[in-house]
Amino acid sequence: MIRNPIPWPNGAKCACAITFDMDADSLIHISRPDDAHDRLYPITMGRYGPTVAIPRILDTYERMGIRQSFFIPAWCMEQYPDAVEMILKGGHEIGHHGYLHEDPIETKDDQRMWFERALDVHMKIAGVKPRGYRAPVYNVNQTVIDLLVEHGFKYESSLMADDIPYLMRTDKGELYEMPVHWGTDDWPPFAHYAEIGYMMPVKAPSDGLKAFWEEFDAAYDAGGFFMLIVHPFLTGRLARWRLVEKWIEETMKTKNVWFARLEDIADYMDGLREAQAWSPRVEKLPYYDGPVLK
Ligand SMILES: [Zn+2]
Repeated sequence: MIRNPIPWPNGAKCACAITFDMDADSLIHISRPDDAHDRLYPITMGRYGPTVAIPRILDTYERMGIRQSFFIPAWCMEQYPDAVEMILKGGHEIGHHGYLHEDPIETKDDQRMWFERALDVHMKIAGVKPRGYRAPVYNVNQTVIDLLVEHGFKYESSLMADDIPYLMRTDKGELYEMPVHWGTDDWPPFAHYAEIGYMMPVKAPSDGLKAFWEEFDAAYDAGGFFMLIVHPFLTGRLARWRLVEKWIEETMKTKNVWFARLEDIADYMDGLREAQAWSPRVEKLPYYDGPVLK
């Protein structure tokens, strides 16, 4: 049960977003800055995303006639302009995902510099200011929220306070949250990356993805929101993507869902609020003004 389900367009029972975080090899450069440039295995594991997986994913989307959202560290946009061009050509959305996948909690003091440096790259390469943001490793802090509000972002997508999109309100303004959770993220089932501290037992494609489809079934029955948070170098691999593609095909055939970019979902919610047809649940931020133990 969802207490304030969103009346999706055309009677759709669920909104679906497959969001890819195209991190490429930024992950190894940010975590091993001194020698990453000469670690060819993690570089190639990351490069697989923009060079091999992205064309495959975009081909599926084109055949299915859907447009989706991608989050890309700005350094990766500079490094892989062909992938960016293909994504934009397909009518997809590119959101802000840091500059070199720096963790906002770790870069607290110079967060504005990193954030605005990335924004400049978006303007230069994509020609538009991104409307959405996802924090590297989901590590949003209040500084990030304030920067997003200051720069007129429409939504954030790294937090977990609800099943469906909600509103975050601060004294300075508001933002939608497109909530994530670990049950629909491909890192736990598929990431195996000792160099950055992850040693996950890699699951069979059908086993790892099965967890996602169970999440979808629950979201669908409740009239909710289903979002995958996936990575081209993990879920864009041949066997996994083949199964995702089959799922999209089957879902479009047999279910009434709305596959949409996150920015379209945000705009749609604006319309509902203007028409007084629905109100989002509000989370007031900041949550705390200091450590809770004084
Ligand atoms: Zn990422």
